[in-house]
Order: sequence, then C-alpha cells, then structure tokens
Amino acid sequence: MGSTTLVLLEMTDVGIHPLSLRALSAARSVSQSAVGVVLGKTHTLAERACEYFQRVIHVPVREMTAETVAPILCEIMEQSKESQLVAAATPFSRDVLPRAAALLGASFLSQLSEIQPHGQGKRAVLAGKGFVSTRSLRPTVLITVEPSAFAVALPLLESGVIQLWEGTMEGNPTVTIVQINSAAKEGPSLSDATVVLGVGRGVGPVDSVPAPLLELAEMLGAAVGGTRATCDSGLFPGDLQIGQTGRIIAPDCYVAVGVSGAVQHVAGIRCAGLIVAIDKNELAPIFEIADVGWVGTWETLVPQLCSLLHRQ
Ligand SMILES: Cc1cc2nc3c(=O)[nH]c(=O)nc-3n(C[C@H](O)[C@H](O)[C@H](O)COP(=O)(O)OP(=O)(O)OC[C@H]3O[C@@H](n4cnc5c(N)ncnc54)[C@H](O)[C@@H]3O)c2cc1C
Repeated sequence: MGSTTLVLLEMTDVGIHPLSLRALSAARSVSQSAVGVVLGKTHTLAERACEYFQRVIHVPVREMTAETVAPILCEIMEQSKESQLVAAATPFSRDVLPRAAALLGASFLSQLSEIQPHGQGKRAVLAGKGFVSTRSLRPTVLITVEPSAFAVALPLLESGVIQLWEGTMEGNPTVTIVQINSAAKEGPSLSDATVVLGVGRGVGPVDSVPAPLLELAEMLGAAVGGTRATCDSGLFPGDLQIGQTGRIIAPDCYVAVGVSGAVQHVAGIRCAGLIVAIDKNELAPIFEIADVGWVGTWETLVPQLCSLLHRQ
C-alpha cells in the first residue's frame, strides 16, 4: 500500500457528494491514508469533509472551472509531494484531471473500477463485459474511478483537521476566463437530487416533458434527466443525459419512465438506491435492475401514481 492519496471532493449543500465518498473508498483501498481536497468559498463544507479525513485541504476558490482548478491541483500535488490523486468519474473531474495531468507531466487513468498500487488498475470495457489492465508510466498519476465499483466510504471515528490552501489563484496562464454564464437553476440539480426522474423515448416524440411527468417530478421533489435517445431528440440538453457517456448519478431513488434500460444508460444509475421503472414492455431490461416495476403505459400509470401520492 502506498502512503497517501489525495481525493478531489465534489460537495453538495449538505456535505460530500456520495460519488466522491465512493472515490474515497477507492483511495482507501490502495493507500494508508487519504487527504481530501475541498474547493469552494465556504469553510463549512470543509468542516463537514473532516468527518471522513484526518486532513482536508480547503481551497477557497470562487470559480469552479477546469481552467482555474487544474493549476491549483498541480500546485497542491507539487507542494504536498503526493504522487496520486483520485476523483469520482464525473463531468467535472473528466474536465479537470486530464488538464492537471498534462500541466504536471503526469499520467491520467480514467474510469478505473479497481485501483492497485504503483499507478495500476483495471477499467471495464464493452459496457462491463471485459476489463483492461492499465499502468501509469509516470511516477505521478491522476485517476478517475467508476463510482459504482466502490462502496460509499464510512466516516472516521475522530474528525480531522482543515489546512487552508494559500497558494496562488492565477489559473492556467494560457487561458483567460472572459465570462461565466451560470445556467438558470430551477429545482434540484441532477447531481445533488435525492430523487431523479429519468425520461426515455417511451414518452413519445414530444417537444417538452409531458405535464403528468412534470407533476410527478414536482411531487417527488425530483430532478429530471433523460436517456441519450431523449437528449438526441432535443427534449433535454446534453448535460442532462444520464448514463455511460452522460452523468453518473447516485440519488436515493431513481424513477425511470419509458426507459428500456440499455447497458449504457444503466451504467449511469448503478449507484442509485431504489430504482422504480414504468414501461409498457414487461421484457424491457430496466425491470431486471428495478426494485419496483410497473408494466403499462406511462399515460395510464403516471397519473395513477400522482393521485396515489396526493392521497398520502
Ligand atoms: C457508445 C454508446 C454510449 C451510449 N451512452 C448512453 C448514455 O450515456 N445514456 C443513455 O441513456 N444511452 C446511451 N446510449 C444509448 C443506449 O444504447 C440506448 O439507445 C438508449 O439508452 C435508449 O434510450 P431509451 O431507453 O430512451 O429508448 P428505447 O430503448 O427506445 O426505450 C424506450 C422504452 O419505452 C417503452 N415505451 C414505449 N412507449 C411507452 C409508453 N407509452 N409507456 C411506457 N413505456 C413505453 C418501450 O417499451 C421501451 O422500453 C449509448 C449508446 C452507445 C452506443
């Protein structure tokens, strides 16, 4: 086992994102200790992370862009002399880690489902039907891990300490951020929501999410996302795609409506708690992984579900 692994954490409003807790398990599986790296303005989130780490490096960064964060990670790795950093495979880490690796002259290993000492590991290929073994040829390695391959890490018995990072915030000297336009935030986001409603091609060729589904989402307090089919059709923007080439999510409950359950979609929901599926085809593969399944058309079943919830 190596000595220490840095873990890049993504935070929700209440603490460490469950996907990052899975990355922590990956780090613990290969090293004696793990140090958390928390990005963000407020100290409170770093305090929450201390439940899981003996030491947390808090970087009070304002702009959470890859251009800003990648050089900071480089500086942290150079200063701490740690040679391994791990993060959950998410859109953010996919953006940041390869840049940081390039700036450091380090290796980048993506989406490992097993980490071994000395920058080695295994990655699933062919939607989980096979594995490739991979090995870093450089002494420093940045790794994203497939969250569904690791359990959610448990807190430590004693909380750790926060180290405030005081390095330079100059960012990547070859890039200037001209403007940041944040997307308007309506309702919970896919990455933080405890309930997610996944909409598939079964809702038909529609221009907007049908009203009964929006009503269901509102009643459940759910974020809404789609399969690749519904994103390709223009029903959702690409960043709301759930799955292997979209977002990997870990809500407590995932409700799939008109989603067949293709392996590439399932790759994005493996970490979900309860999986509920509504599909008219009783042989749809989604029912193989669903905890609760209703066979029938969404036009009939979704309004029934809403009226059941109304009565609660
Ligand atoms: C390299 C690669 C990467 C991919 N990445 C992703 C990814 O990240 N995410 C992803 O989602 N897909 C991905 N895909 C695509 C994936 O293979 C499937 O094509 C896609 O997930 C299917 O989407 P769907 O379930 O919406 O549509 P379909 O497979 O067409 O399923 C529609 C379902 O709706 C049901 N249905 C129809 N009418 C009704 C009704 N009235 N009421 C109830 N049910 C109804 C049908 O029975 C069916 O089960 C990828 C594919 C490749 C090759």
